[in-house]
Amino acid sequence: MRLQISTWPEIEEYLKSSTGVIVPIGSTEQHGPTGLVGTDAITAEEIAWEAGKRAGILVAPTFNVGSAQHHMGFPGTMTLRPSTMIAAITDWVLSLAHHGFTRIYFLNGHGGNVAPIATAFADIYARRALDNADESFRMMQRNWYELPRAEKLYGELYPVGGGSHATAAELAVTFAAYPEKEDTRQLDPKIAPVGTITDKHHYREQFPDGRIGSDPSQARAEHGRQLIDVAADDLVKEVQAFFAG
Ligand SMILES: [Zn+2]
Repeated sequence: MRLQISTWPEIEEYLKSSTGVIVPIGSTEQHGPTGLVGTDAITAEEIAWEAGKRAGILVAPTFNVGSAQHHMGFPGTMTLRPSTMIAAITDWVLSLAHHGFTRIYFLNGHGGNVAPIATAFADIYARRALDNADESFRMMQRNWYELPRAEKLYGELYPVGGGSHATAAELAVTFAAYPEKEDTRQLDPKIAPVGTITDKHHYREQFPDGRIGSDPSQARAEHGRQLIDVAADDLVKEVQAFFAG
């Protein structure tokens, strides 16, 4: 069930049986020469939508621009400053809480978002403590690629060149969603270099085509369908336990 494709009476009805919601959160940033700029948002929302469909869980709009300053050397990337992102997450959560949601689960597709999400959570908990809010209220975040069966499956699919940015697994999920964008071109070098990142200049110097450690020519839409299937299954279990806790 998707919030944006629902009416307000439907949301009112949903709240009678559940006060939990999933928020997919990603980024709008380069994903190498063959990956979509929206990859991190598309992966999170595809898995969240599938879990939502299977278990009747409400899925909020996708928070689809994240913390991506280090990718700004590549056209199309958009970034929020961490301070802006923390403020925006806070307002998203407080809006949902205003209507009675008490369990907010962020399914994340981008490593750079982890720290701003955690800081936003700390800020929201502090506001509630200072306001003497008495009801039980919890938030959690999870990177979709750390859901156990998804992590296991992409390790099996891509034992070499899975990578850490523009990964074969994340591109496969986007190709499942948008099969016309499947691109299995061989890139040079076949497996991208690895290293540390500071700013956009440093990033582009070290990783000239945008990939880190990956060989995304291995990504196939069919793999993406398998990854969505097992990740959605894990997600339903984890979210149901979180909502009930
Ligand atoms: Zn990514």
